[in-house]
Amino acid sequence: MHIDSKLPKVGTTIFTRMSQLAAEKNAINLSQGFPDFDSPRELLERVNFYLQQGLNQYAPMTGAPSLRQAIAEKTQRCYDVLPDAESEITVTSGATEAIFAAISAVIRQGDEVIVFDPAYDSYEPAIELNGGTAVHLQLNSGDFSLPLDTLAQAINTRTRMVIINSPHNPSGAVLSETELDGLEKLLAGTEILLLSDEVYEHIYFNGSQHHSVLTRPALASRSFVVSSFGKTLHTTGWKLGYCVAPEALSKELRKVHQYLTFSSVHPMQCAVADYLQTHPEHYLQLPAFYEAKRDLFCSLMQKSRFKFSTTAGTYFQLMDYSAIDDQKSDIEFADWLTEQGVAAIPISVFYQQPPAQKLIRFCFAKEDNTLEKAAEILCKI
Ligand code: PMP
Ligand code: GLN
Repeated sequence: MHIDSKLPKVGTTIFTRMSQLAAEKNAINLSQGFPDFDSPRELLERVNFYLQQGLNQYAPMTGAPSLRQAIAEKTQRCYDVLPDAESEITVTSGATEAIFAAISAVIRQGDEVIVFDPAYDSYEPAIELNGGTAVHLQLNSGDFSLPLDTLAQAINTRTRMVIINSPHNPSGAVLSETELDGLEKLLAGTEILLLSDEVYEHIYFNGSQHHSVLTRPALASRSFVVSSFGKTLHTTGWKLGYCVAPEALSKELRKVHQYLTFSSVHPMQCAVADYLQTHPEHYLQLPAFYEAKRDLFCSLMQKSRFKFSTTAGTYFQLMDYSAIDDQKSDIEFADWLTEQGVAAIPISVFYQQPPAQKLIRFCFAKEDNTLEKAAEILCKI
């Protein structure tokens, strides 16, 4: 039977492809972003506890009350804003679901959604499935900051939403207060919504800070702010995330969420709630934890022919490979590198117009000895 695809441009994601290739070639997998170490033992023990307690049936549609309360308190602690746990916080099956539900809830045929390239791969398919058009603007080259002038020119009466991501995957750039000021000015007086993907909210370096959209009332009032416990608790396989949004937006998001998944994995929700309450030091110390990994990887890589400036946030490090090979595309280079023993992500797949610069992305959420072994191979290349 012929299927006229609704997503003709979409294939298997680069993350699946590179992780499969890494397994096939027996390469060290620094491609898809996930830790190769386990989540905290106390957290796993709480999951076990709730499994044994019989919390094995549907969680409430909007999320376990204890988890929504814990998210509210974490938000207050980090950003000095207390969202209403009843009406403004929704637990979802990963940030991926929150993003899909937010877009589906508000995007209609003919709407334009502005995304910044390199853009995370799940935004555009969600926009297109809902009849919208993704308008791609490029982040400024070099520092991957927001191109506020280009944004000002791109905004028109069809613009329904702008999607931002900070700390940013794959560049690691962290939005500054000045960029948020600029965004706030541009959106003032419009009906444009903001989707702020903050899944790496607890991974930023160099004594900097993550400036959440939640700290800006003028932005928060028009925003879906999305986060993920996968990144924060080293549990990407649990697919547990959440969305903080004003009541009116949460209400619409929940209309989609309740028919997309209805609710998310129950024992994990209760365990995460307990763990956030009893071990806030976990997320408070996450910047230092990942900064040490970044520093280890980057110091080992100083001896390589890759060129880079150390990443400001996330657990990703971009590296320029042009001194090694200025002919291969990043996709060809990433495939070749996997055969040499280390898998990485080519970043051109996150662009509508691939950049001239030859960059690949390494994930350093790995045991120190994994990073040492990978760097040993990479320094010989
Ligand atoms: N947004 C970004 C920028 C990401 O890197 C990821 C990564 N996994 C997600 C969203 C999705 O998060 P989750 O795994 O919780 O669905
Ligand atoms: N967000 C992860 C990354 O950037 C991958 C998530 C996925 O495989 N869908 O590597």
